[in-house]
Order: sequence, then structure tokens, then C-alpha cells
Amino acid sequence: MHHLPTEDTYLHKGLRKKLVEELRNLGIIDEGVLSAINTVPRHFFLDSALERYAYENRAFPIAAGQTISHPFTVALQTQVLDIKPFEKVLEVGTGSGYQAAVLAMLKAKVFSIERQQELFKQMNRFDYIKNLTNIKRFYGDGFEGLPSYAPFDKVIVTAAAPYVPEKLIQQLKVGGIMVIPVGDEEQHMKRIVKTDTGYTEDVIGKAYFVPMLSGKQKH
Ligand code: SAH
Repeated sequence: MHHLPTEDTYLHKGLRKKLVEELRNLGIIDEGVLSAINTVPRHFFLDSALERYAYENRAFPIAAGQTISHPFTVALQTQVLDIKPFEKVLEVGTGSGYQAAVLAMLKAKVFSIERQQELFKQMNRFDYIKNLTNIKRFYGDGFEGLPSYAPFDKVIVTAAAPYVPEKLIQQLKVGGIMVIPVGDEEQHMKRIVKTDTGYTEDVIGKAYFVPMLSGKQKH
């Protein structure tokens, strides 16, 4: 894993433009999000054997039995968050780092947690991610969030949670937005807005994620 291609050729750029048009046709309207996807070379985040498929609207395996999310899902979750420059965003599930990079392009201050040590360590060798200085990465359990960096303007969970974790609600600002897939076999993408007294939620659609698991995993 991570025989990282380092070139971003005209071919890649052209395929990315096509992907952006596809996402537009699927209903993504936020120009900032579309431009971020147009900028981040998704093929850097995949094994070189998968490079030629990197701009297809599909999820792919990464290391440790995990996946890089479907581009439409990344676009949708990012659009729901309505990122403004310099907002603090907590991401649960760094995985390949692709979603974190898209958030970083929107000038968010990204705090991303990964529970699999192998995936966490892989990022230490990933220059593209290391050069995005507005991403801070943590090895830990997303159910705990990052209390010492809270509160966050936004929270994005990129693994299917069994329920909405109370600690993540606590670490969200009042008025802040969380986007989170909830469920196991049948998952629903939820948009949550924290209020003075609790939170409101609405379902945006179905979701297909690997499960959010508790505790850290060491290999
Ligand atoms: N955002 C990622 C998606 C990766 S898939 C990307 O753009 O590639 C989901 C990731 O969530 C996996 O890497 C998995 O190990 C991680 N994960 C699952 N449960 C977690 C938890 N409790 N805390 C942190 N990460 C978790």
C-alpha cells in the first residue's frame, strides 16, 4: 500500500474535471466543495494499482480492511458541513486522508482521529498530507473525540456509528453542525445541529460505511 504516485498529469486533471461534472449532475451545488475536489489529486491516496480508477465515483480499499469513501459521499458530507475558512473541524476516521485534504482545501482547521495505528502511521510518510499544515492528526478513539481541542464548529464522522456519540455532541459548539452516518446493516446519513438544549437532526439519505469501532487498534 502507498506506492504513492507523485505526478499529477494533465490526464489526471482531466479525469478530475469529469468527476466534478458527474458530482454536479448528482446534485452537489457548493462551488467551494466542487473546486476542492477538482484540486485534490485523489490518485495520490490510492495504491498505484488502482490509480487509473481513482476518478471513478467509487469507494476503494485502503490498508487495514478500510476504505476511501466514494467521491459523492465526500462531496455530500462536506457540502452539508458548510465550511467557512478557519473553522475547527473534527473528523472521525482519517483513513486515506482524502476527506481531510478536501476539508483542508476549504481552509478548515482539521483535527482528524484514526483508531488504526497502521493507517495513522502511514500518513507520517505521506508528503501531500504533511504539507497541508492545517491538518492535525491523532491516533485515538473517535468515540472520545478530542476534548482538549473542543469546542468544534463542525464534526464529520466517516464510519458508521451505532448511535450519535454523546461526547461528540458535547464537543460541538451551539449552532455547530455534525454529519454522521448512523446504523449497521441499514445506515442513514444524519445532519445534526446543536442547540442550547440538545440537538435537532434530519436524515439526508442512505449511507454505506465501514463500522465505527471503539478503542484503538494496534498492529
Ligand atoms: N475519511 C476517510 C474514510 C475512511 S473509512 C477517507 O477519506 O479515506 C473509515 C475510517 O474510520 C477507517 O480508517 C477506520 O479505521 C476509522 N474508524 C472507525 N472507527 C473509528 C473510531 N472509533 N475512531 C477513529 N477512527 C475510526
